[in-house]
Amino acid sequence: MTATSYPVIRRNGGCGVETHRPFAATATALRRPLRAEGWYRRSSGRDICPDCWKAGRR
Ligand SMILES: [Zn+2]
Repeated sequence: MTATSYPVIRRNGGCGVETHRPFAATATALRRPLRAEGWYRRSSGRDICPDCWKAGRR
C-alpha cells in the first residue's frame, strides 16, 4: 500500500481555502485541531477559515 488518503476541509461557499492534516484519519479528527486554529463550522455544515471568520465573511 503506497497510496495515502486523508480528509480535506474546504472553506466552502467562500474563498475556497483548503487544509488538511496528514495525521487526521477522518474529517471529525481533522476538525478538532482546526477548531483550535480558528476554524469554525456553521450549523449549516459550512466550514469557515480563520481569515474569513475574522473578516466577517461567515
Ligand atoms: Zn477564507
